[in-house]
Amino acid sequence: MLACKDYKFWFCTGSQDLYGDECLAHVAEHSKIIVKALNDSGILPYEIIWKPTLITNEVIRKTFNEANTDENCAGVITWCHTFSPAKSWILGLKELRKPLLHLHTQFNREIPYDTIDMDFMNENQAAHGDREFGHIFTRLNKSRKVIMGYWEDKDTQERIASWMRTAIGVIESSHVRVMRIADNMRNVAVTEGDKVEAQIKFGWEIDAYPVNEIADAVKDVAQGDIDALVEEYYDKYEILLEGRDEAEFRKHVAVQAQIEVGFEKFLEEKNYQAIVTHFGDLGALQQLPGLAIQRLMEKGYGFGAEGDWKTAAMVRIMKIMTQGMKNAKGTSFMEDYTYNLVPGKEGILQAHMLEVCPTIADGPISIKCQPLSMGNREDPARLVFTSKTGPAVATSLIDLGDRFRLIINDVECKKVEKPMPKLPVATAFWTPQPNLKTGAEAWILAGGAHHTAFSYDLTAEQMGDWAEAMGIEAVYIDKDTTIRNFKNELMWNEAAFRK
Ligand code: MN
Repeated sequence: MLACKDYKFWFCTGSQDLYGDECLAHVAEHSKIIVKALNDSGILPYEIIWKPTLITNEVIRKTFNEANTDENCAGVITWCHTFSPAKSWILGLKELRKPLLHLHTQFNREIPYDTIDMDFMNENQAAHGDREFGHIFTRLNKSRKVIMGYWEDKDTQERIASWMRTAIGVIESSHVRVMRIADNMRNVAVTEGDKVEAQIKFGWEIDAYPVNEIADAVKDVAQGDIDALVEEYYDKYEILLEGRDEAEFRKHVAVQAQIEVGFEKFLEEKNYQAIVTHFGDLGALQQLPGLAIQRLMEKGYGFGAEGDWKTAAMVRIMKIMTQGMKNAKGTSFMEDYTYNLVPGKEGILQAHMLEVCPTIADGPISIKCQPLSMGNREDPARLVFTSKTGPAVATSLIDLGDRFRLIINDVECKKVEKPMPKLPVATAFWTPQPNLKTGAEAWILAGGAHHTAFSYDLTAEQMGDWAEAMGIEAVYIDKDTTIRNFKNELMWNEAAFRK
């Protein structure tokens, strides 16, 4: 897996020096207890580092600028145990470039009715101090996440954990480099976009390479490496010859092994985390990269077909957001293909020509070799499987000319009723929320693509928070969507995002 750094999050408690040293000692002690409990919960994907209490403009500004320059700091969690006058946060917050979670909690769970006095009130006034802090954040018009809940509660810890993954998506976005070895498919609109604006908004570097440069890297792969990888494929996957000659089949599989090794080396050497291909622009490559691309996605690379660099970058970001997740169900590039319109069984069959990530597979994975219905190369080997069931999120990032919009659809993945023995590609099947008709109508009204970045392991909230942090529009299609309200939302957003 293409891993990201060993990221940490900083825990910064706000206060002031009005309350005396004893109170400040309690503030520090309490925030250390909270940090330890959060770290010990086993729920957070990343460690939290306790920082000394922020009590003055200077300390706040200094701490936040240290957070900016610390490569391993993925974000800051703030909480005002006492009252912390928010003017003292202005400069620090203006300069902070890391994601911020405002954790609105309180050290004690219950009001100590029998003993409460004004000393206790002054020491435990997050209800008061966190509102002052929140006000200045809103006035500065900066993006942040607010989570309210008791720090010992599993629900609160899970929400912090979820936000941490969003923060990783924000931080890692500016490290995404997409290699284009083909241009966008001729005349296709939705996979196009402004690459300069994408770099301004998301930090993505999107570079083109002549396809034959990477084809040369494929040609240079040592025979021993190809043979070893073919052995691995044959060990790991079922081989479905379907009447083909065994030796010829193996030769076709070997071409994909050679592409996998060559591509991975080329991407690694040049430091790219995502790649796009195009079936119509393959240069000296013998086959459309199918199995090879599926394996690279499984290793954590982003991918978009037909030159779709936006989806490639999104797949990479969503994969890195889910890194290290226990019982992860998978994240993939995906494409809407064909509908089932039988009442009560409505849904969209998802697939691609070849390139679906095996992380989403349910059950055995097979290799097939079949002709492609498009292009002019030999029959590519590909992994074939069906996908897991359950809730998931499908996203589409589009360029509207004056802005980017992220469309986020909650979907419910299901099994198709019957096997599809003649379909030589990996598939998923889902019903969009709130139902196929409204879901598809809203998607089309929003301008969503046929390509999606899809994950079982992320939520609409995480993706929407990511979009907010990037300063772009996000629209949700979920159980609450109605077409009338959705159209109004699109119209209002048009005004809200006008430059
Ligand atoms: Mn496609």
